[in-house]
Amino acid sequence: MITTETTKTPARPEPVSPVSTSPMTERIRRNITEDNVCVLTFDRPDSAANIFDRDTLDELGRHLDVIAASPNLKGVVLTSAKPAIFIAGADLGSISKFTRPEDLSDLIELGQRLFNRLSALSIPTVAAIHGACVGGGYEICLACDARIASPDKATKIGLPETQLGILPAWGGSTRLPRLIGVPKALDIILAGKTLAAKPALKCGMIDDIVPREYLIDKARQMILTRGAALGERKSGLGKWLLSTGLGARLIAWRAEKLLFKKTRGHYPAPFKALEVVTRGISRSVEESLTLERDAIVELARGEVARNLIRIFFLQERAKKLSGLPGDDKPKVDRVKQVAVIGAGVMGAGIAQWASAREISVILRDINNDAVAKGLASIAKLFEAGVKRYAFTAVEGRAGMDRIAPAAQDVPLTGVDFVIEAAVEKMELKKQLFARLDELAGPKTILATNTSALSISEIAAATKHPERVVGIHFFNPVHRMQLVEVIAGRQTSPDVVRRAVKFVQQLGKLPVVCKDSPGFLVNRILMPYLIEAGRLFASGARIEDIDECMLDFGMPMGPLRLIDEVGLDVCNHVATDLASKFSDRMEAPAVLAHMVEDKLFGKKSGLGFYLHVKGDREPGVNPDIDKYHHNTTCAKLTRDELQSRMVLLMVNEAARCLEEGVAAEAADVDFGMIMGTGFAPFRGGPLRYADATGIKQLVDDMKALAGKGELRFTPCNLLQTMAGADRTFYNQ
Ligand code: NAD
Repeated sequence: MITTETTKTPARPEPVSPVSTSPMTERIRRNITEDNVCVLTFDRPDSAANIFDRDTLDELGRHLDVIAASPNLKGVVLTSAKPAIFIAGADLGSISKFTRPEDLSDLIELGQRLFNRLSALSIPTVAAIHGACVGGGYEICLACDARIASPDKATKIGLPETQLGILPAWGGSTRLPRLIGVPKALDIILAGKTLAAKPALKCGMIDDIVPREYLIDKARQMILTRGAALGERKSGLGKWLLSTGLGARLIAWRAEKLLFKKTRGHYPAPFKALEVVTRGISRSVEESLTLERDAIVELARGEVARNLIRIFFLQERAKKLSGLPGDDKPKVDRVKQVAVIGAGVMGAGIAQWASAREISVILRDINNDAVAKGLASIAKLFEAGVKRYAFTAVEGRAGMDRIAPAAQDVPLTGVDFVIEAAVEKMELKKQLFARLDELAGPKTILATNTSALSISEIAAATKHPERVVGIHFFNPVHRMQLVEVIAGRQTSPDVVRRAVKFVQQLGKLPVVCKDSPGFLVNRILMPYLIEAGRLFASGARIEDIDECMLDFGMPMGPLRLIDEVGLDVCNHVATDLASKFSDRMEAPAVLAHMVEDKLFGKKSGLGFYLHVKGDREPGVNPDIDKYHHNTTCAKLTRDELQSRMVLLMVNEAARCLEEGVAAEAADVDFGMIMGTGFAPFRGGPLRYADATGIKQLVDDMKALAGKGELRFTPCNLLQTMAGADRTFYNQ
């Protein structure tokens, strides 16, 4: 809720006039206003982000010394000078690098001590938040008496630590439950949520929403008018019940059951956080902070936290991806206009995403109806985005206005990128590209969103194959961050570089791969899905096939995934890929049989599962048993089923590296985690191979291949590595 005072805000705010600036500061500026309010501005030099590393914490300590020794100060305002980040949290690099637990414990204790000092100041403190305020960034705000935030898109508030395998340990697990109550705090902490300003206000994480330009002034006013009363909060019956510990134990019992169902016990961080919050609430703040500290030290040493933090860094790397040929050349201009060809599922998704990032879009399809259908799905995506607070209604409307529909050919001379997302047929794509080549300007890059067709072959239909590239978005575009950038045989390095920068401009995460069947992600995923179909056809139960992979940590069982993607699409891709890798892949005939019987999966209501609208989980198709072809695999245990499906993924992942489809093991793992949800806590198929032991996996593969199942024959790279006792990563 925005208060009347802040929504009206007719008068210009009084400027904060600095009368003294501490010369010792580098990352935090200290200004004192004329009315004696101290403004601490976080502004890490040469960086778009503020983070808490040891130097910043030390600097904060020195500021607090000065503040504590200044009897005339009326209060303290915390703010940031960065355009999109308040404070992005602790320096994860240093957390992941600690080898001695006592060093991490020291760093945690230092942060806790400083935030305690801030919290214990005798003058009121207000955090004036604009931009990402997450992890340690929000924990320092929790140590303030009040928190106000801008309504801007950039403002995101929360505690995402459990998603990184750790927990909020600079007071977040202690102070948030005391501020908003245990149930709401657990909702945030256990899921590692970050919220936009509006929902954050609703659940009490902040106290007010104030336009960015008035934040400091409002914080000052709050200090001057409300003074010591700022931090006072009502304590209701609910809080009393929880402080007895009984209520907290009840909540813990319930939450633990839900957590187990959701994580299958693979992720220790939410369980630890639950324990810390529910035990800490009935203890003193000091005792609760000790629980936080011990818990983070234990979690940070585990393999799960290491893998999850590594994924975070891989995401950061993809955002900045450098070292591409031509990176020494001048900076690439931002893309201003694109044309999307095909307004179907993918075209509409791509057009909406680009337009929401302020890029003008020409949306072309074969006739008015097809374009109108695309525009209707785009409107729905914008509406949903407004509901999620991803943008305002005005921004949503502006997004729609940036899309120019086209049911006929239009000149594309001023367009930076054309993204073709028409149907998956080589002949059609070739014709289209020959025409696009004529319509496009000399600098226009022609990209295809094909899932599996050869980029080089499509490019050969144009007079300028060097400007044709694959930009493969995943479905649904608004949720999937990964985008494969595929260089065809003749694609110029500069075009690849521009495609990568364009993907980054869109806020997506690129992975560069070679033009080969299935590119990277589908190439590794398909042998797994094919094996699941084969195991089913050979008598294994659907429940066993899907459950064992959920136990492994996949977000969805493989047969359920086939239903989601569509049996027809899956059969098409499997057949296509199998024709290219016939030595080891064969599309299971059961898929074709089911498609013949019009079992397309979710979209037709029936596949391996029966999908009923409104049901949260589909039940197994009651007539499915007739599609078993034989019973040769009916007696395999869940472990054996899991092992077969995983071995094939690992083998194909290693092949991709061997053939240079991706440049590094980290790219392969990153692609699989971001593109398929491959058990993130395992760090990807190659990281999993390292952890299990490559020799062990190769022996398992050989044992199966020895029984005539030749698709399990380990690739040369795995065999060599097993022989030389090598790993994909330096341990
Ligand atoms: P779709 O069938 O939903 O949409 C295709 C659209 O292309 C239709 O609206 C059709 O009218 C239009 N079209 C056909 N010929 C055209 C032409 N000559 N000019 C302009 N438009 C034309 O298909 P989709 O699922 O959006 O897939 C599009 C492309 O994206 C395919 O190459 C597909 O392999 C790829 N892809 C699909 C997915 C997915 O999950 N659906 C994921 C990644 C990539």
